[in-house]
Amino acid sequence: MTKAIYPGSFDPVTFGHLDIIERASKVVDYLIVGVLNNSSKNPLFSVEERVAMLQEVTSHLPNVEVQSFGGLLVDFAKQSDASVIVRGLRAITDFEYELQMSQTNRKIAPNIDTVFFTTNLKYAYLSSSIVKEVAMYNGKIDEFVPPVIVSHIREKIDQCGSNK
Ligand code: ADP
Repeated sequence: MTKAIYPGSFDPVTFGHLDIIERASKVVDYLIVGVLNNSSKNPLFSVEERVAMLQEVTSHLPNVEVQSFGGLLVDFAKQSDASVIVRGLRAITDFEYELQMSQTNRKIAPNIDTVFFTTNLKYAYLSSSIVKEVAMYNGKIDEFVPPVIVSHIREKIDQCGSNK
């Protein structure tokens, strides 16, 4: 059985992430979406919120599970018994960083391989940061994220605004 981990910040999940999750879940037997508990990145959503949102939008995929993790990705992969890391590539700008990360991971964990999915061209421009930027200025984000995530983003931004 091939078990894979698709790690990321997912702050918040976008149609670009969802496309990779759907495609990867057809290629591997079991996919764990790993949500990085990265306090240093100052995320908009807490790790628990990011996990819950991913669970909402992947509930139709029976072989997909969502978990949070901290520390080294390869340690999380080993603990989960996963032998594959899934990452998405949007543009050449992603490539250099992704190549370095995958080579480092392979050096520290030779039994774990990274597999890249190229972006669906429809979503090549899409990132969580762009979604947050547009949403902050009240722009339309329904082409970027599923409807339930639009509501969560709106709520969060309202909440942040009223806390100021
Ligand atoms: P990270 O902080 O690890 O980059 P992200 O949530 O930004 O986390 O991205 C997780 C993974 O999803 C990365 O491999 C990234 O390249 C990929 N990804 C993000 N957006 C898209 C998209 N629109 N199309 C394809 N892959 C994407």
